[in-house]
Amino acid sequence: MFFDTHSHLNFPQFETDLPSVVERAKQNKVSDILVVGTDAESNRQAVLVASEHHLWAALGLHPSEIETDIPALPGIKELLPDDRIVAVGEIGLDYTCPVDRSRQITAFRNFLEIAKGLGLPTIVHSRDAAEDTLGALQQAGPVKGVWHCFSGDVKLAEKVLVLGFFISFTANITYRKNEALRQVVRAIPLERLLLETDCPFMPPEGKRGERNEPAYLPLLAKAIADIKETDIEEVAEKTYNNSCALFLKTKTHERTTL
Ligand SMILES: [Zn+2]
Repeated sequence: MFFDTHSHLNFPQFETDLPSVVERAKQNKVSDILVVGTDAESNRQAVLVASEHHLWAALGLHPSEIETDIPALPGIKELLPDDRIVAVGEIGLDYTCPVDRSRQITAFRNFLEIAKGLGLPTIVHSRDAAEDTLGALQQAGPVKGVWHCFSGDVKLAEKVLVLGFFISFTANITYRKNEALRQVVRAIPLERLLLETDCPFMPPEGKRGERNEPAYLPLLAKAIADIKETDIEEVAEKTYNNSCALFLKTKTHERTTL
């Protein structure tokens, strides 16, 4: 079984055929899918989609969606206590977007506190902002989570692991030009890795230009197995267990297999 820890099935790209997308995931042994919010509207959609299709939801605010008024952050607390909400995310820092950096940092810190208060793990997005992301996480103290769509080097990965975080990769590790990223995959123990599609984005090599979807997750698992010179079963089992340990710890008994 596979766990897609980062999908955007709540995005308009899946509006017309979501049931068949979920069905194809199931046929490809992707039994658990986390639907990740990026703003108020997509948080609401994430909860709806997760409830309707027996998936999991994360509520957050992507740094590029931060509006002028930080106190108006989407009402995460008001959307709880749906027991399918298992994480706060995605949150983080993205210095490729035009939003003021200090506002991003304030919002990120805010969310880390919210996550701590709720006892939920976090899903962290970081782009061109590794140092400040690490700094905020270190300052926040004990907060669990995953650094999603990792694109840093081995040194950064080691620092992220020291924090107790998991690291997840998308199928961009299958792109020909990304040999450096494959070296990073090789260096991280399977016990600390998670799988994600980040769909509809990041389709695997061979499907570039198409909409990505959870059914393609085994292609990423196979790529990781090849890099680590092991079999896909081991990658599936370890990453699945890692995902449950991070996101479903208190909910294992409620876990619904598709
Ligand atoms: Zn995402």
